[in-house]
Amino acid sequence: MDRTFVMVKPDGVQRGLVGEIVSRFEAKGLKIAGAKLEILPEERVVEQYREHLEKPFFPGLKVYIMSGPCFLMAWEGKGAVAVVRRMIGATNPAEAAPGSIRGDFALDIGRNVIHASDSPESAVRELGIHFAPGELVEYSKIDEPVLYE
Ligand code: UDP
Ligand code: MG
Repeated sequence: MDRTFVMVKPDGVQRGLVGEIVSRFEAKGLKIAGAKLEILPEERVVEQYREHLEKPFFPGLKVYIMSGPCFLMAWEGKGAVAVVRRMIGATNPAEAAPGSIRGDFALDIGRNVIHASDSPESAVRELGIHFAPGELVEYSKIDEPVLYE
């Protein structure tokens, strides 16, 4: 099964959106494989956003991500990476489709509530940055026979 890395950013945690966001992924049929609340150390923020290090928004992004606890998750399911990217919506919440998480809960590109891996390769990389192998749990869920054909 595909796994993806998802993170409620500090604005989402402070605004009390963790439960709503977890509910959406559960309702979709995805299976939670790991979760934790953490204030990220600088080196993991830099590693996660390494493609953006030279971008003008990076210093502000780093301060924002480290401004409070993030809620880190691993979600599993058929096509999980692409499915979750569609569920979080476009990077700029002003353009994100209504019904998506960013479309429903955010207004500003610099406070867009949630992160999710953008490809299967990034998912493996990002899960490796944030979770030790023992923190990801393998188990079967009783709804699987009715979720998948
Ligand atoms: N970001 C920003 N200003 C920008 C572009 C991006 O603050 O002009 C932040 C925003 O938090 C975004 C993150 O940098 O989620 C990573 O940008 P990316 O383009 O990878 O968007 P994402 O993959 O999160 O949709
Ligand atoms: Mg990205």
